Amino acid sequence: MLLKENNTELKRQINYNVEKIRSDFPILSQLVHGKPLVYLDNAATTQKPLHVLHSLENYYYKQNANIHRGVHALSQEATEAFESSRIKVKKFINALGKNEIIFTKGTTESINLVAQTYCRKFLKEGDDIIISEMEHHSNIVPWQLICEEKKANLKVIPISETGELIFEEFEKLISEKTKLVSVVYASNSLGTVNPVKEIINLAHSYNVPVLLDAAQAVNHLELDVQELDCDFLAFSGHKLYGPTGIGILYGKVNLLEIMPPYQGGGDMISKVTFKQTTYNELPHKFEAGTPNIAGAIGLGAAIDYVSNVGLDRIAYYENTLLEYATDKISTLSGLRVIGTAKNKISVLSFVLDNIHPHDVGTFLDFEGVAIRTGHHCTQPVMDKFKIPATSRASFGMYNTFDEIDILYNGLKKILEVFK
Ligand code: PLP
Repeated sequence: MLLKENNTELKRQINYNVEKIRSDFPILSQLVHGKPLVYLDNAATTQKPLHVLHSLENYYYKQNANIHRGVHALSQEATEAFESSRIKVKKFINALGKNEIIFTKGTTESINLVAQTYCRKFLKEGDDIIISEMEHHSNIVPWQLICEEKKANLKVIPISETGELIFEEFEKLISEKTKLVSVVYASNSLGTVNPVKEIINLAHSYNVPVLLDAAQAVNHLELDVQELDCDFLAFSGHKLYGPTGIGILYGKVNLLEIMPPYQGGGDMISKVTFKQTTYNELPHKFEAGTPNIAGAIGLGAAIDYVSNVGLDRIAYYENTLLEYATDKISTLSGLRVIGTAKNKISVLSFVLDNIHPHDVGTFLDFEGVAIRTGHHCTQPVMDKFKIPATSRASFGMYNTFDEIDILYNGLKKILEVFK
């Protein structure tokens, strides 16, 4: 076990200054119900550093103008800032070209885009789409909608008692009928990191493209889409310390080229007549209307911030937090951890005997501790474990060992009170 006492040594080793990082997040220094805020709801959304807040302020103070096609200075400056964020995203996930980076509202919209364009065109009656049992609803429902329309089948890879995908079951499910595999890279309710490279390799041996839902992976794991060889990848800015309402769909250019547009409107066209409309080149073909310009710029700033701290160091630090928290809360009798995969991101779901998670969340809130309780938009996972909900603590780059102690003490109190 990595003891809290080793904390200073650890931080020295990986050159990690959590106090400095915390000072960049003004929201963290407030009191909630008279207690210092302990923010452990990072899987739902992360807090924003000053660098991101300043980028938003700077845009609205100094650059606000609509982008593309504007000849005036502000429009050109805003376009430049918007497009330079696209390049930051491209570098961050190591895409081949910036035309493979599409700005969306978030992971949900990115997945819907693929369902409503790629699948609308290529999915036929009797075909299969494969997902897993641990998907977020946003990687279930879009496929159900299109499967229903096309009379195709949604096949589900089951998970084990530890919350790991059963690969042999995937091997049994995939076939010539499979048109797409869409799996979560890291689960938001269990923390499981899936063997996505193996999944992609097997799918490709059947010529089946793979979409990765990287909503939870993006702020914990270094993503390299060329190395992964995934065909699509979706994530949201707000889980990467960036603004809400902005996200990314990465797609391989050869696939994006053959997909029809998602929505019609300004910016996605090349020429419009009443007889016929031709579409703009990538990535604009998929970006109809005025986009979330400030959000895209803020996402670029978030990428700068995260890259500056170093995602590898963040991941290492968060893993030690997870290890410490798991070991510590597991000593509480009456507490059961849900999701015990070998390879996890810093998400810790648990249930307390005979105490509803909502009571746990409400009690902890009065201690200043923000966790999430509920089904986490993964109702099939709850069904699998035969529970209505879990309590979930999820750690980000600014959390500390002391905060985990506060969580532990709160849980201890709850168990005493409810006994
Ligand atoms: N996929 C996973 C694994 C998630 O955790 C979430 C959000 O929690 C989503 C998809 C949906 O993300 P958004 O609501 O930002 O579109």
